[in-house]
Amino acid sequence: KQAAKTDSAKALKVGTDPTFAPFEFVDDKNNTTGFDIDLMKAIADDMGYTVQYENSAFDGLVTSLQAGNYDAVIAAMTITPDRQASVDFSEKYLMAEQFIAVKKGSPIKTAADLKGKKVGVQSGTTGQTVAEAMGITPMKYDAIPDAMNDLLNGGVDAVVADSPVVLYFIKQNPNFNIQYVNGDFSKEYYGIAVKKGNNELKDKINASLKKLQDSGKYNDIYKKWFNV
Ligand code: GLN
Repeated sequence: KQAAKTDSAKALKVGTDPTFAPFEFVDDKNNTTGFDIDLMKAIADDMGYTVQYENSAFDGLVTSLQAGNYDAVIAAMTITPDRQASVDFSEKYLMAEQFIAVKKGSPIKTAADLKGKKVGVQSGTTGQTVAEAMGITPMKYDAIPDAMNDLLNGGVDAVVADSPVVLYFIKQNPNFNIQYVNGDFSKEYYGIAVKKGNNELKDKINASLKKLQDSGKYNDIYKKWFNV
């Protein structure tokens, strides 16, 4: 295992979009960090690999993985039938749902109240999918921080995004006067994506993920980012 780690051929190329705190983001020391980053490192360590990140906007990750630009993608990516047509996923590693971020005092109290409002989403995400399924044409942003900025500026009335991301944003920015509405949308499960048919890598990732879950290491990472 030690020998493997010094072998540069054993670097796993992983695509991500580091604008999605607390899953993958760039901290004030310019390090890419987050729950997914810690999880991917633990998985790669167990497999005897190092990780080399390649950044992309979220909506380009699946295509780039298909094109062979990466070995895997970790990006708080929900396992959906649409994506499963293009790439394969590991076992699920986290559950989330769509929450609606609004300004305190907003008349938006339920998902139904989004109709006729200006709604921001991150392009290519399940947030976009749920908004469009309601007949809304959302404003699409490359990254959630841009959408949140527009919410603060009044450019949009609401932002639909993954629950842990909305909760983290509110917690990190208590003076922004943002609150969330639980949209009661369906539960989603994140997976690590690999190129379609790359069963060898998928099986290795799954085996390591299971080890981390059994050993309590997964739980330590979870607690670090979601302090429960
Ligand atoms: N979980 C959502 C999706 O898969 C959002 C992911 C993200 O923006 N990084 O579409």
